[in-house]
Amino acid sequence: MNLSNLIDGKLSVSSVTHWGDVFNPSRGDVIARVPMSGPPEVDAAVQSATRAFRTWSALAVPKRAAILFEYKRLLEIHADELARLITRENGKTLDEARGDVRRGIEVVEFACGIGHLVKGESLPQVADQIDAVTMREPIGVCAGITPFNFPAMVPMWMFPLAIACGNTFVLKPSEKVPLTAMRLAEIFNEAGLPPGVFNVVHGGREVVDALCTHPGIAAVSFVGSSRVAKHVYTLSTAHGKRCQAAGGAKNVLLVMPDAEPDSTLRAILGSSFGCAGQRCMAGSVLMGVGRKTADEWRERVSGALSILKVDDTSANDTAGMGPVIDGVSQARVNEIIDTAPATGAEVAYRGAAVPTKGFFVGPTLLDHVQPQMSTFQEEIFGPVLSLMRPDSLDEAIATMNGLSFGNGATIFTSSGSAARQFTQEIQCGMVGINIGVPAPMALFSFSGWNDSFYGDLHVQGNEGVLFYTRQRVVLSRWDKGYVRAQGW
Ligand code: NAD
Repeated sequence: MNLSNLIDGKLSVSSVTHWGDVFNPSRGDVIARVPMSGPPEVDAAVQSATRAFRTWSALAVPKRAAILFEYKRLLEIHADELARLITRENGKTLDEARGDVRRGIEVVEFACGIGHLVKGESLPQVADQIDAVTMREPIGVCAGITPFNFPAMVPMWMFPLAIACGNTFVLKPSEKVPLTAMRLAEIFNEAGLPPGVFNVVHGGREVVDALCTHPGIAAVSFVGSSRVAKHVYTLSTAHGKRCQAAGGAKNVLLVMPDAEPDSTLRAILGSSFGCAGQRCMAGSVLMGVGRKTADEWRERVSGALSILKVDDTSANDTAGMGPVIDGVSQARVNEIIDTAPATGAEVAYRGAAVPTKGFFVGPTLLDHVQPQMSTFQEEIFGPVLSLMRPDSLDEAIATMNGLSFGNGATIFTSSGSAARQFTQEIQCGMVGINIGVPAPMALFSFSGWNDSFYGDLHVQGNEGVLFYTRQRVVLSRWDKGYVRAQGW
């Protein structure tokens, strides 16, 4: 199946000559081909979005909200179909795919309250005879560039809110998972969105660079690796656009000796091996404070991994873990595991990468990882957990704060005082206390720091509303002299 771009409400047969393969990662076979578009396709989408902006931005806010409500209704009807599509093109388990869709729907729910979210403020008599009113207005055509790991949720961090705010949108989904994005756009159009309000242009770097430099685009939202996030932020801000660019991560799960064992084990497994470790909030380092704690958790995690059912997620709805996204990732992660012993780490557990077809990597626990090792410093983005053995909470926090990333970190403990110290001293934007994946729901912004985020206003939540609107302040003076001037 050859995919099309979606421009001006129509599937647009691309004249591109270069196509990319979309795989079912569980089987390694090609399920679709995606057009690798370029500046002409971006320009056509921006022209359409610019025309649509005139009427869409002027539409009464409750009428925009009504389309969001209808979108939410249709998404609920199509939720299972979308989840299965995600499993097919991304490889995550059906349960994880359902979560991917659910987190996205929650953003639509949030955006349904757009009337409340964009209401301004007022202060009568801000000065003698003068009243002040603020209003938040849409900014124009917005672009979204998204990664492969959450085919529904991450695009939906962006476009429902941008569109609810009165903007129009051009989405460039990951070329590795374009099918879900297309269904999300088709369903939005079915909900009554006018043509040109939401456009999808497929491709890779050429499309990204064209979006970041196009004079018709007001704002760029990006989620992906830190290297590309920095590039997108630098390029789009140099071209006068506002930009929010979320990058990669290295998230630590810190286990204190007083952690509750059963719920902590479930949380660690879900965080580190859920989505085959391909989450920006995946716990990829486990710190056991004190030798005894580290020894115990090495045993517990290894034991749990030995019964984790790795399987073809497109055939088995109850698989415990699926493949990584492609052959390149598979080879990269396997090489990290193969070379870890040469750096001084120990492979404490390495699961078999069954089944053999597809891009599977066996779930792995590395032990004796040290702060200077790349297995601690760099994002692995696969089912590999690195165990470290700090002697104290202070040492653990100091080591974590040496990371360049700043997405998430979690402490497992029964001590309020340890949790409080951790929360106050850790240098990252999303903190978990006894929670494996402290990713905020749609009501709160996704608050990465340091190399995990470039910009100031984060995606979703109230910061998302601020990002997709600009403020106008109106000062007015209507003193009684005007009444007299009218002769009343
Ligand atoms: P990626 O950076 O390779 O790709 C992201 C997007 O950028 C894609 O649409 C891709 O086509 C485009 N792109 C890739 N290379 C480019 C280049 N050289 N120039 C311009 N555009 C380019 O990321 P990925 O592999 O799809 O996703 C995994 C990464 O995303 C991980 O690092 C993960 O931590 C991160 N991520 C972060 C968050 C967050 O909220 N911080 C959420 C999800 C994923």
